Amino acid sequence: MELYKSQQLIIYNSLSNKKEDFVPLTEGYVGMYVCGPTVYSNVHLGNVRTFLSFDMIFRYFKHLGYKVRYVRNITDAGHLENDADAGEDRIAKKARLEELEPMEVVQQYTVDFHNVLNEFNFLPPSIEPTATGHIVEQIEIIKTILDKRLAYEVNGSVYFDVLKYNESEHYGILSGRNIEDAIHNTRALDGQSEKKNPQDFALWKRAQPEHIMRWPSPWGVGFPGWHLECTAMSTKYLGDQFDIHGGGMDLKFPHHECEIAQAQANKGVTPVRYWMHGNMLTLNGKKMAKSTGNNILPGELISGNNDILSKPFAATVARFFMLQAHYRSILDFSNDALEAAERGYFRLMNAVNALNNLRSSDTSSIDLAAWKQQCYDAMNDDFNTPILIAHLFEGVKYINQLKEGKATLTEADLKEFKETINAFIFDVLGLENVSVQDTSDKLSGVVEMLVKMRDDARANKDWALSDKIRDELQTLGIQLKDGKDGTTFSVN
Ligand SMILES: [Zn+2]
Repeated sequence: MELYKSQQLIIYNSLSNKKEDFVPLTEGYVGMYVCGPTVYSNVHLGNVRTFLSFDMIFRYFKHLGYKVRYVRNITDAGHLENDADAGEDRIAKKARLEELEPMEVVQQYTVDFHNVLNEFNFLPPSIEPTATGHIVEQIEIIKTILDKRLAYEVNGSVYFDVLKYNESEHYGILSGRNIEDAIHNTRALDGQSEKKNPQDFALWKRAQPEHIMRWPSPWGVGFPGWHLECTAMSTKYLGDQFDIHGGGMDLKFPHHECEIAQAQANKGVTPVRYWMHGNMLTLNGKKMAKSTGNNILPGELISGNNDILSKPFAATVARFFMLQAHYRSILDFSNDALEAAERGYFRLMNAVNALNNLRSSDTSSIDLAAWKQQCYDAMNDDFNTPILIAHLFEGVKYINQLKEGKATLTEADLKEFKETINAFIFDVLGLENVSVQDTSDKLSGVVEMLVKMRDDARANKDWALSDKIRDELQTLGIQLKDGKDGTTFSVN
């Protein structure tokens, strides 16, 4: 029997601002869309956290036995500098500054994005569509919305008529904004704008002669508005209505609000059942952002090459650090917090490594079923990874008790214990079991050198020096183990 039949998942729906029972449109299937990156610069750790939250959610759905179609797009056109309808296209601007073809910019940063996500052990989405690959679909949606008189054309651009839409629907349903207040509080248009109202947003923009990313349309040569691509790609691959739409908290308004309006105008049905928003990673209490320079790049984390960092960290340690916070909570990044997470991570991995050497008994002194259900309860409660991790450390305690003979498990229970621990740590949280070699090449180089010196001392029967090296390393938490294939070490 699939696990989802016995585990009722509850999701916090940003649309209702409530936790709701998750009931998919089709039993056993989940359709999930997440807004992907605009590929005009390197991703920073703040971006990684947003996508990581949805990777964990994707993994848990799969673990529960759902068949998941996970669509995460690549924005390679239409995203203007100021997130609204003005300014230069971000990719075109980068192309101009670096004297590249826009598609060279797209290629370079799409590859970077994939490399980073691989480093952090992300599962690839089921479909990764691009905005430029779906211009035809976007034009079709605009035609329909124009036919319904919920959009208007001016000088080769098409704008969504928010006020007209709001007469029969609710613009602001997701963000809680009241359109009447918004109108009251915004300045009158300066006469330069083609829009009827400042709230209206572009579905299609006429391309100025210098705009290099351009396509033909019934309204002349231009390019699609940023919000439209997600409506086109989500509904194309997941249907007019689908289960989950995710993204960073900052996309709630205007991006997701506009997506709802467009899709509702296009098909007469609200597109998404559960809206989910991940919270941000801050640095020094402020949002990580490219524009302010207040950010850390994944490469800097792994090399340790940033003044904030005392040393290099493995990507999986950063992954563990991020999962120690709930996805809807703000998480502040600091070197101390990362070091603490690293200690916790190694404690967990050492326990996992010790699992294989445990012996079973005739009886069980641990209530394994209760502990296992607590792990599921944590995840079922809106993907509460910090609570899950607390229960996994409870599991570490059991492992230590079993090692010391203070607790027992039957063979069947021991098997289930191993399977459960491994499933949550590796399948659901997506952690990787890296040895110290991977975390710090320099440190392992130094330890290997000392091991070699100790081997030489032993060959010379200099037992005092040999023991001294072993004991000094042990006080630093590095354990040497002599085997028939030589000496190995582990870090506690
Ligand atoms: Zn989007």
